Amino acid sequence: MEERCHTISSENEKRPGGIKTMKYERIRKIVLEAILDAVDQGLIKGTSGNIALRDEKDDVVAITPSGIPYKGMQLEDIAIVDLNGKWLDGRYKPSSEVPMHTAVMRARPDVKATVHTHGMFATIMAMGNEELEAITPPQCEFVPVRKVPFTMPGSDDVADKVVEALGKDGRSVLIKNHGMFCCGKDMKAAMSATVYTEEMATTAFYAKVLGTYEPMPKEGVAAMKALIAADKAV
Ligand SMILES: [Zn+2]
Repeated sequence: MEERCHTISSENEKRPGGIKTMKYERIRKIVLEAILDAVDQGLIKGTSGNIALRDEKDDVVAITPSGIPYKGMQLEDIAIVDLNGKWLDGRYKPSSEVPMHTAVMRARPDVKATVHTHGMFATIMAMGNEELEAITPPQCEFVPVRKVPFTMPGSDDVADKVVEALGKDGRSVLIKNHGMFCCGKDMKAAMSATVYTEEMATTAFYAKVLGTYEPMPKEGVAAMKALIAADKAV
């Protein structure tokens, strides 16, 4: 059985006047707010899914804990790990998917935030071999959305395959028979990739059911990506 980490009280420091401060409070707060937002948006159900944020200065990562319901979660419940996934702090052990989050952060210095969910439509569209394609202009920022073959959750193997599928500038991948993994330069960007990937999957699903599936033309996607990169998209 894994040993629980009980360093939280010793990591807290007392300010003059006896007010306690929590170590890594800023990144813990952003991760907690993001996971609650994902639950509210229906992107995460039960204890599935996990979210991580890197603190540049300390080279540590705040990540949601394993198997704990997100509603009612406290800041001290958010785990702190190093970039190799070693558990440093927090009341509960980190998510079992910590290798996936930290592997992407090690491979991609531009990535500060990572979000993994089992969004229903992303999970449905993860089956099959076609990449998810942009159907509307805002979705263009997040393509290509490549597929990752099924490998055991929580393994270094799935972590390596997600890193490979994301490549040097990918924002989102679908993991077969599992869900999606998204990333960004900050939490807002990683959450945006998650929301738009689920939207892309939902719109593609219904259009395919109706027999009207017609993604944006390649030139349109390229032009839109250029506008977004130049920060000129409306
Ligand atoms: Zn998962």
